[in-house]
Amino acid sequence: MKLIMLGPPGVGKGTQAQKMSEKFGTKHISTGDILRNAIENSTELGIMANNYVSKGELVPDALMLDLIEATLFGEDSPSSFILDGFPRTIPQAKALDKLFNKNNTKLNAVLLLDADFDLIAKRLSARRVCKNCQAVYNLLTNPPKVEGKCDKCGGELYQRDDDKLDTIKRRLDVYKTQTEPLIGYYKESGLLKKVDSSGSPEEVFNRILNILGG
Ligand code: AMP
Repeated sequence: MKLIMLGPPGVGKGTQAQKMSEKFGTKHISTGDILRNAIENSTELGIMANNYVSKGELVPDALMLDLIEATLFGEDSPSSFILDGFPRTIPQAKALDKLFNKNNTKLNAVLLLDADFDLIAKRLSARRVCKNCQAVYNLLTNPPKVEGKCDKCGGELYQRDDDKLDTIKRRLDVYKTQTEPLIGYYKESGLLKKVDSSGSPEEVFNRILNILGG
């Protein structure tokens, strides 16, 4: 299965991709996680990306395309994956199509998770991430059992710098102008499937399973 998760930041793409990966062993590829990791380890990519990520801006397409080609079709190329956070621009989507053609492979579906921007801003400012295993929590909808600690590995939870209010606003603007046009792009190719993202993570996950099964 080869899937893309599309939708604004904070809508729950990462949480759902994580659930898919736990249930089916599908590889969860989050370009945001890869970049944060690179930044934390001060790799060449991390140093180039840091300035964009910290401001809520998009990292240039050329850098992202090299990264995605290496991740999807380099060594250890996964047979089944779910892309979370890529593509984010029309040029990225077109380049991804070319990569799929070149490698004789096809996408199964693009899942669009949508929600109201006010709700998203609230959700994003309540998001916490495990420093150790990157598991995602939400103080409103999916809190950890022990405050500040990851249920899975006991790691420390933190708030991403770009989940603070000013940067959230910038990220939502960037989504509207640069990423939302992908909805039309994938609608045209017949791959787009809308998922109602209201309710608990389990309810949303069940809707996804129905869509993929049906
Ligand atoms: P995310 O965790 O998906 O919200 O991504 C966090 C940040 O990483 C974004 O605000 C961008 O700065 C950067 N980023 C992640 N994926 C991409 C992408 N496909 N294209 C450009 N920048 C990206």
